[in-house]
Amino acid sequence: MRNLLTIVAIFLFMSQSFAQQSKVAIAIHGGAGTITRDRMTEEREAEYRAKLEEALQAGYSVLENGGTSLDAVVSAIQVMEESPLFNAGKGAVFTNEGKNELDAAIMDGETRKAGAVAGISSIKSPVAAARAVMDNSPHVMMIGRGAEQFASEQGLATVDPSYFYTDRRFEQLERIRSTEKQQLDHDGDRRPGDQRPGDKSSEDKKQGYLDAKFPDRKFGTVGAVALDQNGNIAAATSTGGMTNKRYGRVGDVPVIGAGTYADNATAAISATGHGEYFIRSVVAYDISALMKYQNKSVKEAANEVVKDKLVEMGGGGGVIAIDHDGNIAMPFNTKGMYRGSIDTEGIVYIGIYEDEQP
Ligand code: ASP
Repeated sequence: MRNLLTIVAIFLFMSQSFAQQSKVAIAIHGGAGTITRDRMTEEREAEYRAKLEEALQAGYSVLENGGTSLDAVVSAIQVMEESPLFNAGKGAVFTNEGKNELDAAIMDGETRKAGAVAGISSIKSPVAAARAVMDNSPHVMMIGRGAEQFASEQGLATVDPSYFYTDRRFEQLERIRSTEKQQLDHDGDRRPGDQRPGDKSSEDKKQGYLDAKFPDRKFGTVGAVALDQNGNIAAATSTGGMTNKRYGRVGDVPVIGAGTYADNATAAISATGHGEYFIRSVVAYDISALMKYQNKSVKEAANEVVKDKLVEMGGGGGVIAIDHDGNIAMPFNTKGMYRGSIDTEGIVYIGIYEDEQP
């Protein structure tokens, strides 16, 4: 009898932990910046919400069908790379020289393997190129022509650089080129990065990502984080960088630990924002480190880095993060961030503005 009870108890325990383990979740972002209702038309807002939902569902269906978190983040991101709404793949922002130079990264929380590409112009899906670097090369980051050659040798789709061109982005460059500034494509003419230490009050700093001068700067870098049925998490990010960036500029996205990071022991994180600040703050790794060394929850750690540390430094932007239990955090210190999630209960959330909390 006692044996029977023990067997039943083991069975119940195993089925419960299996049920817990098989929960999946995903979160995505499409960039942060000066995104406010008064600068958005109803049609445009609907387009963003629909595309975010499509990307979420693309990633989620991979997870539901037993696919890996790596496959899920790639699928979600590819939907956004192919959409001109976002600053990634088609529709990426322009460099000062009038080119599209794309960066992307991916990281596997289980093995902590990572892959990244920077400054590429002829590979259709930069996130797929980053994945190929991780899976099929001994390297972590490859740049420019070498990265393109590697990706095409891997059989990835190549395109003429004009594939990435959109009128809207080019006009955006034209407007800013004469100012010698670089800009988050969804941001206004004032950014925290334009301030000098001490020349603004801290309240003003918090407001530093105000006032978009041009109403159409509402696009962004894209990212995804996911938890799969095996309890593994992954993160990936893809971007065109910042409008008017100078030759050779690389942002935070492909810098592992800055814009992209994943560790099953802590969280998978993808960032969007003014890359220089995110590199100097090692944002994604800092969130992971706060969880690891100070036992903070993913929400506490992500909030502290985005809402305190980055604001103090002057870096506008946000992150999405997920831990191995599927807890999701999506803090940002800008007016808005295109974002969405499907949690472990299957609840779908899409948000754009700051007052749309899940
Ligand atoms: N983080 C990106 C970069 O600095 C820009 C963005 O998030 O939109 O390249």
